[in-house]
Amino acid sequence: MLKVSNIHAQVENTPILRGINFEVNDGEFHLILGVNGSGKSTFGKVLLGSPQYEMTKGKIEYNDEDISNIPTFERAQKGIFLSHQSPPSLDGVSAKDLLRAADKSKEEKRSLLQFKRALKENLKKVGLSQKFLNRPLNDGASGGERKKMEIASLLTLGAKLAFLDEIDSGLDVDALKAVSTGINNFLEKKGTAVILVSHSETILKYVDPTHVHVFCGGRIVATGGIELAQKVHDEGYAGLMDCVECRGE
Ligand code: ADP
Ligand code: MG
Repeated sequence: MLKVSNIHAQVENTPILRGINFEVNDGEFHLILGVNGSGKSTFGKVLLGSPQYEMTKGKIEYNDEDISNIPTFERAQKGIFLSHQSPPSLDGVSAKDLLRAADKSKEEKRSLLQFKRALKENLKKVGLSQKFLNRPLNDGASGGERKKMEIASLLTLGAKLAFLDEIDSGLDVDALKAVSTGINNFLEKKGTAVILVSHSETILKYVDPTHVHVFCGGRIVATGGIELAQKVHDEGYAGLMDCVECRGE
């Protein structure tokens, strides 16, 4: 599904990603760990082609197509979804209007009624009231409500590859369960895959990553199964790998 080969990216001539290789297949669930500032969020934004970052080297392939140079909206139309670490609010634009606009740009067409039914169902699934349909997107919403809205959006748009950036931060236990159920529902659909950035061990009670990666200094310095997450949560990053940034030096 996704093949990232040796990508390097920078902001204002400061290198941030320094050679990321990453592969995701259908049905896989990749957990990304790593100290603050190691490039996890940047990786998500570069995957979606954020104009904030300059990709100076490497290639991003999605379903065997080179998408390294196509604009963000086309990557999204192809089914790549990024949930923000801090979802912004949009004054004057409701969730319904924003998501319907995105929905209409997709190849598979559905009626407004079908779309609204899906969105309503997904709001319910993540535990958001129907008021969120017509409210300006995230306006006055709590951090937890914003994260739930990201998952409702993911489910409604029918994306294929979800990059969920700290989707679990700031959630109470019920919200965490609702968001986890949403992620699991998404993965149950055929041809989907998840990349989740998370610092917390708690979400691992409710979801089952198949692969775990540790970012450090804009590189992936360790990859493994769930035992790697356990090791990081037990011992921290220091000493885990031979990397100055991770050792905090
Ligand atoms: P993480 O998500 O792993 O905590 P980020 O990807 O957000 O880390 O950031 C990696 C590094 O790149 C940090 O040092 C951060 O300050 C820097 N960085 C990211 N985006 C920008 C930007 N738009 N302008 C300047 N520096 C940035
Ligand atoms: Mg981040």
